[in-house]
Amino acid sequence: MGAVADNLARVKEAIAEAAARVDRDPDSVRLIAVSKTKPVALIEEAIAAGQLDFGENYAQELRDKLTLVSAPGLCWHFIGGLQTNKVKYLAGKVGLIHSVDGLKLAREIDKRSAGQDVVSKVLVEVNMGNEYSKSGVAQAQTLALVKEIEALAHVEVVGLMAMPPFVDDPEESRPYFQQLRQLRDRIRNELGDAAALPELSMGLSNDFEVAIEEGATMVRVGTAIFGSR
Ligand SMILES: *Cc1c(COP(=O)(O)O)cnc(C)c1O
Repeated sequence: MGAVADNLARVKEAIAEAAARVDRDPDSVRLIAVSKTKPVALIEEAIAAGQLDFGENYAQELRDKLTLVSAPGLCWHFIGGLQTNKVKYLAGKVGLIHSVDGLKLAREIDKRSAGQDVVSKVLVEVNMGNEYSKSGVAQAQTLALVKEIEALAHVEVVGLMAMPPFVDDPEESRPYFQQLRQLRDRIRNELGDAAALPELSMGLSNDFEVAIEEGATMVRVGTAIFGSR
């Protein structure tokens, strides 16, 4: 096995162990291999090892990779900061946009998706209220934004995403993951819909196991799969 395949196997085992600790089905956690800045050859290696979900941060880089990589079942996730003028590169081409943090951006996704005759799935990125969290909507504004996006015909909000501060000790991330899940649960109550916002995208290479213990349904793992950037 190549390094990428080895790393994937190790990460998947860690996912299964974390899920088992909290009596979750490991299949309820989707592993997103974050391939930003990494060459297509490494993505191909991951695909050969069975990986189909990939995350990218830069719209133009993703646009280029879309033309270079293809495989049945391949699913691209856009996880980076998104400017409205870049939405045109993504609408209709990615499986999920994780980083919607305002109505203006959501409206542009709606418009571009209508043009492609698709409904784009998105997550609302929540600012966890710390000095490192520069993007994302404030927790107190999240319900309002979810409601506004739900009124758009070509955008569907399927969950929440968070990017907590980088910490050495993964236990320090736990309170942020708990907060995101609790926020989702409060929004479910407010909406009167116990099945709303099923997806929680949280957890990176250094803290994905803790995120899974706290309910992550998507973990975004780059370095542990592809090496440092
Ligand atoms: C780069 C990035 C990741 C992956 O981080 P690693 O520490 O390499 O696993 C996950 N999410 C976002 C939003 C990122 O920008």
